[in-house]
Amino acid sequence: MGIVVENVSKQFGSFKALDQVSLEIGSGSLVALLGPSGSGKSTLLRAIAGLEMPDSGRILLTGQDATYQSVQERNIGFVFQHYALFKHMTVRQNIAFGLDIRKAPKGKAKGRVEELLELVQLKGLGDRYPSQLSGGQRQRVALARALAVEPKVLLLDEPFGALDAKVRKDLRAWLRRLHDEVHVTTVFVTHDQEEAMEVSDEIVVMNKGRVEQIGSPAEVYDRPATAFVMSFIGPVNVLPSTSGIFQSNGFESAQAEMFLRPQDVIVQTEPNGTTVSAAVSRIIHLGWEIQAELTLDDGQVVMAHLTRERFDELELKPQQRVYVKPKDAKSFPLYYSI
Ligand code: ADP
Ligand code: MG
Repeated sequence: MGIVVENVSKQFGSFKALDQVSLEIGSGSLVALLGPSGSGKSTLLRAIAGLEMPDSGRILLTGQDATYQSVQERNIGFVFQHYALFKHMTVRQNIAFGLDIRKAPKGKAKGRVEELLELVQLKGLGDRYPSQLSGGQRQRVALARALAVEPKVLLLDEPFGALDAKVRKDLRAWLRRLHDEVHVTTVFVTHDQEEAMEVSDEIVVMNKGRVEQIGSPAEVYDRPATAFVMSFIGPVNVLPSTSGIFQSNGFESAQAEMFLRPQDVIVQTEPNGTTVSAAVSRIIHLGWEIQAELTLDDGQVVMAHLTRERFDELELKPQQRVYVKPKDAKSFPLYYSI
């Protein structure tokens, strides 16, 4: 196992930032910690790094108890959202920094820096200063610097958070390819569910200092363990389980609320025994998908996502009468509000 976190709790004053967190991260895998702001992601990452001492629990790195090890002893690479490179040093010098303070033999260090420049696709930019690079290039230098000392574990705290959407998307794909090459156990913090889905092998969903679910991107999306996970990962309609749309469709529940993904709303222009009537109140083009806002006769508003093809087939117009039913819906026994 690359990283084992056992029952780790951390309190700041009376506030529980981490509440009995346990998880295992396989050697060589890329795992995302996903959750809203304030859910404890950075605190957990800092505890793994040795920058924050847990109040209780243990942290094991590659099988060894690291709970009381210093940051240096843990041999971890860390990249933050705003990773300050040394301004007065070139890209090459920045990358070599960790090797220099560890007194790596000069020739070996030189070769390693050139290797890393190539790995992060900055060959030819080694003599530039950070101010002569774009934001995305700077974060790649930060990554190369973290990787230079061959860390046991790489920790990334919203590393692309400060960059604009297009660059962020490119860097995600790049990080995934990089990881497939170097295979260092990596924990990646993000509050962006799409980013977590795209980059990681496994997602740890956090909420209020607790782990809500651990699973592959497909598992947390298709089989969410809690109402929080279902609401946080992907859009969802939350409707009273007494709503007409669930009647005569076999989606009965003792719970007060039902969760229905917009793409699980079946829309047709003719009624049948299991549909309910609704009016199209708004149509929004989301690119490859169309979002139709539907108002049921009981006043509930339901979002439906349709493929472009289905939308054209239905010839939907605002104010049109349609007939809807759920293809799938879920309820959760322990729903607490988010
Ligand atoms: P996330 O990274 O998920 O946004 P954090 O782990 O940074 O969340 O923080 C979790 C909570 O703990 C936040 O409400 C934050 O204000 C609080 N917190 C974090 N670090 C400290 C600290 N050093 N002192 C007091 N409160 C802190
Ligand atoms: Mg954070």
